[in-house]
Amino acid sequence: MSRATPFYCPYCGDEDLTPEAEPAGAWQCGSCLRVFTVRLVGLSLGDPAGGNGDR
Ligand SMILES: [Zn+2]
Repeated sequence: MSRATPFYCPYCGDEDLTPEAEPAGAWQCGSCLRVFTVRLVGLSLGDPAGGNGDR
């Protein structure tokens, strides 16, 4: 199982993140103390049928 590594807390933007033992793959922010997980959903390869991929 691969762990996604966040570089910033998604809630407060702090960089002080510590891996949590439970639940698996969770991180704790040392600034706001939130514990969260990062999950990879998939890859966005665009929609050749209509999307212009503008972002
Ligand atoms: Zn935070």
